[in-house]
Amino acid sequence: MGEPISSAYLARCHCGAICARYDTALPIARWSVRACQCSFCRAHAALSVSDPAGRLEFTALQAEHLQRYRFASGQTEFLLCRACGVYVGARLLGEAFGILNARALAAIPADLPAAQPMSYAGESAMDKKARRHARWTPLAPTSL
Ligand SMILES: [Zn+2]
Repeated sequence: MGEPISSAYLARCHCGAICARYDTALPIARWSVRACQCSFCRAHAALSVSDPAGRLEFTALQAEHLQRYRFASGQTEFLLCRACGVYVGARLLGEAFGILNARALAAIPADLPAAQPMSYAGESAMDKKARRHARWTPLAPTSL
């Protein structure tokens, strides 16, 4: 009884300073793709993907280009590239969970499911944290 085989998906900002590697055993057609309707995610047309059984690692090849952006409850760091402006993904502040912005994948998979529009506006800070613990991807220990 082995673990399901994971595939690795590579993502990066436009200039390549900020990279991500997403490991998941889920076939792309079964990915949960969320189009968060907050004003940050709408402005980036972000498509959030995660797998609680997967693994996510953010890397900065040029650390001086890493921008950690926080707003609202401040629980989450949104990781952007200062040089090219691309939003690559986000992580919970001080906790090893994250999401990938599928827009930053090296190629958008043809069978990526349609995004579900999501609004989390009514959530309390505690609800937000519980949802992220349940749905987000565990970060590799070496991740940003
Ligand atoms: Zn960049």
